[in-house]
This record gives sequence, C-alpha cells and structure tokens, in this order.
Amino acid sequence: MADRRKPMRPVAPLPTADLPVVVIAGRPNVGKSTLFNRLVGRRQALVADTPGVTRDRKEGLAVIRGRKVRLIDTAGLEEAAPETLFGRMRTSSEEAVAQAALILFCIDARAGVTPADQHFARWVRRQNLPVLLVANKAEGRSGAASVMESYALGLGEPVPVSAEHGEGLSDLMFEIVDHLPEEPPEEEPEFEPEIIPEVQPEEGEEYVLPERPPGPVRIAIVGRPNAGKSTLMNCLLGEERMITGPEPGLTRDSISALLHDNGEEFEIVDTAGLRRKARIDESLEKMSTSASIEALKMAEVVVLVLDATLGVHEQDLQIARLIEREGRACVLALNKWDAVEDRNETRKAILDRLSISLTQMRGIPVVTFSALTGAGVGRLLPVVRETCTVWNARISTGALNRWLEGMLERHAPPLVDGRRLKLRYMTQAKSRPPTFILFGTRAELLPDDYKRYLVNGLRETFDLPGVPVRLQLRGTK
Ligand code: GDP
Ligand code: GDP
Repeated sequence: MADRRKPMRPVAPLPTADLPVVVIAGRPNVGKSTLFNRLVGRRQALVADTPGVTRDRKEGLAVIRGRKVRLIDTAGLEEAAPETLFGRMRTSSEEAVAQAALILFCIDARAGVTPADQHFARWVRRQNLPVLLVANKAEGRSGAASVMESYALGLGEPVPVSAEHGEGLSDLMFEIVDHLPEEPPEEEPEFEPEIIPEVQPEEGEEYVLPERPPGPVRIAIVGRPNAGKSTLMNCLLGEERMITGPEPGLTRDSISALLHDNGEEFEIVDTAGLRRKARIDESLEKMSTSASIEALKMAEVVVLVLDATLGVHEQDLQIARLIEREGRACVLALNKWDAVEDRNETRKAILDRLSISLTQMRGIPVVTFSALTGAGVGRLLPVVRETCTVWNARISTGALNRWLEGMLERHAPPLVDGRRLKLRYMTQAKSRPPTFILFGTRAELLPDDYKRYLVNGLRETFDLPGVPVRLQLRGTK
C-alpha cells in the first residue's frame, strides 16, 4: 500500500507479493527490530537504544522452517506519526496489520506488562487476526513472572524468547509456522502442513501423535571432548556434505548440515566449535558460552554422545541437566562400542548411574554404535525421529484427567498448613516439550516430591521417554 503522507521513494519491488505477511508489533523498545533481524537473518534494520534513529528497512523476506514470509517490522514507523504513543503505534501498525496473516505481538518480559501493552493488545485483539504473543528479553528465564502475567492480555500462550541472545527462537519459528495459513498446494505438492489440533480428540483417543510441522528434524550432537562427536558427524554425513547457513536464528559461526535417511530430512545444527577439534581440557563453563550450547538451543533432539569405555562422568550429567533445562528431547548415544568388552555390563552400569542421578533420564532411548567403524550408526536417526515425535506429542484432556483421578486415588495430595490441596483438572498446554497445566485450589503450593510423583507418572503412563516433561501449577479460587 502506498504511503500518502510523503512522496514515494523508489523501492525495488520485493518478489514477495503472494507470501503471507507476518507483522511484528508492540510498543517501542520491546525488541521488535532485534527480533526482525534474527528472523530475517541479515542486519537489515538498525537496532539502537536512541529514539529517533532512522530505520529505513522495515520489511524483509524471512524463511522460517522452510516457509517464506514477508516480515514487517513496525518499529521504524513509530517516529513517522505525531500524537500520543499509542496513536503512533497504532498508525504505524494499521497499514501493516491490514495485510497480515499473523501478528507477532511483542512485550518486554523484564519490564512486565505495561498499560501501553494492555491498550495495544486490546486493539490487536479487535483485528480478529491470528496473533502470537512473544515475551522477549526472557533470556536465562528472566522475566518468568511477567511471562505468566502476560496470559492476562488475552492473546494466548506467550512464547518466551530472547531476540538478543538467540534463545527460544527455534520454538518461536515452530509456532509461527503453526499459525500461518496453509501453504497453497502447488508450492509443495507432497506436503500439507499439519496444524497441531487445538480441539482435543474424541474420548477414548488417548494419545495423539500429530505430524510435526514440515522441515527437517533439527539435531545437535553434544558431549564431552573426545566422546567422538566429530567422528560421528563425519560418519553421518558421509558423502553428503551439503553445508548450509548461516541461517536466521543461528549465530554467525553456526552452520548446519542437511542429510537424508529413509526419505526423511535431518539437519545437524553444527557450530564452529564442534567442527574444530575440541580441546582436551575444555570445561563445561567454557562450553556453556560456546557453540554446543547454541546448537543445543536450536535443536529439537539432542544426541548426547558418551565414550562408553569411560562410563558416566559428572560433566555428562551436567550436559544432561542442561538439555532438560532447555526443554530438548534427548537420545543417549553410547559410542566406541567396538572397544567395549562386556557390553551388557557396560550398558547396565551406564544406565543405572544415569537414572540414579537424573530421574528424567529414566527410560531414555539408547543407541550403541561405533562412530569409527560405522557399525550401529544407522540406528541413530530413526531413534532420533521417534524421539522427536514424542517431543511433539499431544495427550487428550480426557485421558489426562482420568489418569489424574487414578493418581490422586493412589496417593492423596499432602496436607499443606493442615489443609488438603484440591487438584481438579489437567490439560496439556503445549508440546515441544510436553507441558501440562494442573489447576486446583492452592495448587501452587504443591510440594516438589508430589510434583515429581505426577511427572514420573505422566512419563510412564503416556510413554514419554527422553523428553523433558513440564508441569505447571495454577491455583484457582
Ligand atoms: P524496538 O523499538 O521494539 O524495535 O526495540 P529494539 O529492537 O530496538 O530493542 C530495544 C532495546 O532492547 C535494544 O537496546 C536492544 O538491544 C534490547 N533488546 C532487544 N532484544 C533483547 C533481548 O532479548 N534481551 C535484552 N536484554 N535486550 C534486548
Ligand atoms: P570429539 O572431541 O567428541 O569430537 O571426539 P572425536 O570425534 O575427535 O574422537 C576422539 C577420539 O576418539 C579420536 O581419536 C577418535 O578416533 C576416537 N573415536 C571416535 N569414535 C570412536 C569409536 O567408535 N571407536 C573407537 N575405538 N574410537 C573412536
């Protein structure tokens, strides 16, 4: 649409006319431009603290999990119109929103929900367009409180991200693709992108394994130095060295490798750090600032490689904890199996040690192989694929509540301050990883050991091996 307020500048037409328009909206300074840059993948818009900085470029082509979209950043438009803050935001957004297929409504999780956010959110709700609520600046879980508070905006489940630090972007990209209108079939003949059903399935249909959104399964390979990560990479890639990147959402020095297995596509999120020979003395502190962590955050499934001849070390446990903290699915790879003498004993010792130290490792999928000879490596990708499916699982509300009833009967919730907690109702809020909300009177006071009882029960009953299971408690009156 032409801007009637000022003469048109000659702008090269973008070859994007038919693409869905995704608009980034929100009050100034919540990080819209930073997010735009992340998603477009090039430094197109200027990011600055100083108000009034000219930002010419507000539109870009973004490829999000294989879907091309026209991404519009409304940030730069704010300075164009006078009047009140809200007036400015609204003028700037109206035009963009008119053509939108999806609005990314951003808030600053650290600042919390402000009156300006609320006001603007009301207006956005009235547009009757799909909206994704993005809680930015949520790095390292900061602003968790306001992420909860932001439910009250009535724009649905907030997606916590840190545009600046590159956290949560993989999840956000999934959500974006989920919320886009279906792709016209002629563009992708074999694929009809499956939207995860909002409606719960019929009674009796216990367990839903929806198709993942299209796109390769993203894998990160992590582990201590010398576990055999590089050897495994080379073995998996073989002749197929299609190196892509740098890509939006990945750091500058990240690259990724695409590979095919049985007609399915996988993408190994690789980083400079992995490919470079890791130093023997690399500590986890070092690792936590390094490439592996970045790769882990971008992955859906993390392959944790252990040198099976050495057993489990504290550092392996630390990495496993990190995988769980980041909410990724995990497959345990016991490498150097060629050099293991008593295989049964070794396997048992490793699994015992892991499940004692980390309850979330119980029942984790295990693949044994030799990256050096290649023996057994062929089993890895199918298991990764399966685990990714579990990570995407949806469980029907009916099945969950029948299960909850049984759990409560078997073990009544404890007294807190002499009063019994009433747990009433449970539903799965999201997948990737499976996340459940449990409502009840004073539910938020539920002791940790009871919470663990429920989480372990969920994992067992609904067969969720290798994926973190999140349980949120919501107190009701
Ligand atoms: P806009 O006005 O909404 O486009 O916001 P900008 O993208 O210009 O960002 C405003 C400020 O917030 C800048 O100083 C950014 O560096 C900062 N910022 C953006 N994203 C994040 C984030 O994820 N975390 C933190 N801590 N700061 C961020
Ligand atoms: P990274 O530091 O995790 O990338 O480990 P590398 O891939 O560099 O492997 C470390 C060492 O272990 C190298 O000397 C490899 O040859 C050796 N190695 C890797 N995989 C195997 C395996 O399956 N069997 C045996 N015996 N050695 C292996």
